[in-house]
Amino acid sequence: MTTMLKGIAASSGVAVAKAYLLVQPDLSFETVTVENIENEEARLEAALSAAQSELQIIKDKAVDSLGEEAAAVFDAHMMVLADPDMTAQIKATIESKKVNAEAALKEITDMFIAIFEGMEDNAYMQERAADIRDVTKRVMANLLGVKLPSPALINEEVIIVAEDLTPSDTAQLDKRYVKAFVTNIGGRTSHSAIMARTLEIPAVLGTNNITELVSEGQLMAVSGLTGEVVLDPTPEQQSEFHAAGEAYAAQKAEWAALKDAETVTADGKHFELAANIGTPKDVEGVNDNGAEAIGLYRTEFLYMDAQDFPTEEDQYEAYKAVLEGMDGKPVVVRTMDIGGDKTLPYFDLPEEMNPFLGWRALRISLSNSGDAMFRTQLRALLRASVHGTLRIMFPMVALVTEFRAAKKIYDEEKAKLIAEGVPVAENIEVGIMIEIPAAAMLADQFAKEVDFFSIGTNDLIQYTMAADRMNEQVSYLYQPYNPSILRLINNVVKAAHAEGKWAGMCGEMAGDQTAVPLLMGIGLDEFSMSATSVLQTRALMKRLDSKKMEELSNKALTECATMEEVVALVEEYTK
Ligand code: PEP
Ligand code: MG
Repeated sequence: MTTMLKGIAASSGVAVAKAYLLVQPDLSFETVTVENIENEEARLEAALSAAQSELQIIKDKAVDSLGEEAAAVFDAHMMVLADPDMTAQIKATIESKKVNAEAALKEITDMFIAIFEGMEDNAYMQERAADIRDVTKRVMANLLGVKLPSPALINEEVIIVAEDLTPSDTAQLDKRYVKAFVTNIGGRTSHSAIMARTLEIPAVLGTNNITELVSEGQLMAVSGLTGEVVLDPTPEQQSEFHAAGEAYAAQKAEWAALKDAETVTADGKHFELAANIGTPKDVEGVNDNGAEAIGLYRTEFLYMDAQDFPTEEDQYEAYKAVLEGMDGKPVVVRTMDIGGDKTLPYFDLPEEMNPFLGWRALRISLSNSGDAMFRTQLRALLRASVHGTLRIMFPMVALVTEFRAAKKIYDEEKAKLIAEGVPVAENIEVGIMIEIPAAAMLADQFAKEVDFFSIGTNDLIQYTMAADRMNEQVSYLYQPYNPSILRLINNVVKAAHAEGKWAGMCGEMAGDQTAVPLLMGIGLDEFSMSATSVLQTRALMKRLDSKKMEELSNKALTECATMEEVVALVEEYTK
């Protein structure tokens, strides 16, 4: 029977394909006494060898997509599987205790994990414990005959269904086969949504319970344009979705004609249209979509995709590749923004009650334990600066003194490099993200010291509204067009201009077609968004008059009480 549901339209496009459930299976089992020891040992051997072949395929794919070094973790996993000592001990347990292979596997691997984890000061041993834990899951799944989801093993067209997708899950998705994804949680500004737009994979998020409604292999139709999801669509519904997909493709082709066009309004005012990236690989999409700059390079993916802190050299290569790829066009690099929903397997972040309000981003960089990694990143950036037009910004700044402390470290590292004879570009602009209301309120003071602002509305809205950007239940409060948010943005833009500085925006609001007319009116200088929104925004700006948008934003700022009133006003002014 056909079922219809609606989630948040998070990445444009349409797909009709079979469901692939990316959910952790139940790996619980009962300990039972066995008589046939040989049979149990044969089950163990079969599970070990099946796990070995799965890992080999995953590793080969990872080498192709991420490179030899990033795939090395799978070698470590295969070494665990091939360890004769561990296998012998599991078999010995089956023999001596007459228990099933599941029970023996768990007993022995738990013992190894406890030993390795006990060596607290030894990061290498801690990693081995994590490897054993991962590998055990795969062997256990094979023993129990359940599927451990492995996106890398997908080799036919599917729609991924999951509770949520981590950035590294998303990065592993192969666009040839993954036609869309649908999740229980998340919204337009969650990182899975941002990645989906970068990869141009249609996505519907925040459906609450899609993982319970759909079964493996069930046919689904998904629209990332409307947020609609249909399970077991009828042939007519399938045609409707296909037609919507074709209409969207035709619209995209029309926008594509603007790739090399200037971004000017109907009355000739220029705005800078920039794109957000997560990895050097994304630069291609930035150029293909005709962006004039990179307004946000989220460097934390460099840290999240690694097994250990990326070295100065690794970072230098990544920044250089991005700067060269942009061929002299500006690139705003944000220093690492770890914490919140972004954790690192090799860096111990404390458990916190409110991670989004906790120890994250610049707060880590300015702490004793973050100092070395912050300096390494700044050195890599400074060295790369000669390869293009680099701008640096710090995330999550609340206090003027935080900016001063970060700037001081930057100046120290710059002076050291120059003393060492290393060439560094002149005129590197150093700015901050405005994503905490305190900084937005005090923008006039910040503007005296920084070179630019980039407004991070994804966080600014959640902190202003006190509504978690990932939480479905409070998503009605997440209102980019609320007059309170517009007033904060206006305050920031006017404060920048009063000091002769520029203000941009790199939160998702910058590419929101309802918000763009308001932001043009407010006088935002730079709009940085998912690369795939750039051409659509250029088309919109071309047909609007900047003076009229000023009138619109003034009205919204002074006369509106609700988001609905603002939206109605935008419709009236942009018809
Ligand atoms: C923001 O907060 O708006 C932003 C651009 O940063 P992130 O989405 O990475 O938190
Ligand atoms: Mg942010």
